Amino acid sequence: MFEPIFEIEIIPALSDNYIYIAHDAGGGATAVVDPAEAGPVIAALERRGLELTHILNTHHHFDHIGGNAELVECYGVPVIGPRADSARIPGLDIEVGEGDSCTVGRETARVFDVPGHTSGHIAFWFEKSRALFCGDTLFALGCGRMFEGTPELFWSSLGKLRTLPNETRVYCGHEYTQSNARFALSLDPDNEALKAACQRVDDLRARGERTVPSELGEEKLANPFLRVDDPDLQRLVGMEGAAPEAVFAEIRRRKDSF
Ligand code: ZN
Ligand code: FE
Repeated sequence: MFEPIFEIEIIPALSDNYIYIAHDAGGGATAVVDPAEAGPVIAALERRGLELTHILNTHHHFDHIGGNAELVECYGVPVIGPRADSARIPGLDIEVGEGDSCTVGRETARVFDVPGHTSGHIAFWFEKSRALFCGDTLFALGCGRMFEGTPELFWSSLGKLRTLPNETRVYCGHEYTQSNARFALSLDPDNEALKAACQRVDDLRARGERTVPSELGEEKLANPFLRVDDPDLQRLVGMEGAAPEAVFAEIRRRKDSF
């Protein structure tokens, strides 16, 4: 049976951000991932009687690091984040990038460089807990906006994440799933995996529930941004045989104006 090391709590913040608290009871460690703001994190820690031990950042945007300073002041913990974005993350203590690891209690993440949304974006994959913290690179049924990358870079980042096991849970930075689902369905209306995912997402949202985390195996089948090299998707967008990065660029462009 699957017994994750981390117990992961999802904390909604700002308008549609998610902050994650990953707690290893046996290892006595508690990390927060992408604290948009400190208040709800402190409240959650106090409610559970937990002491924060690490702050993890995926990228420099304010809605992912805004709570860093106050949390450091309260708990005196190290901030771990992207080497390539170190100049834009005040107070970054430990810089990590592709191939590095990051240990939290009895868990160790493999770090991936996943540029595209921002140039210094990273993702943390905690294999034993089947948890991927990917910020604004990969969303449930979508991907982040391409602010600082090229289609080549963004697609190679998504391609890396796509190699992870199907059981991986995707803990992304925002609750954007329902609008992502509408766009995906507009491209690919007969995709059974996508239709099932959309139905589930609509049901969850109708009850006011979260759609995150999603499962990577389902993303591989349903998320158009992970299928830009799939001939079926290419045909649907009129780009059969095109380079995957060109298909990525086209559907990212369509999504921006959807
Ligand atoms: Zn962002
Ligand atoms: Fe964000």
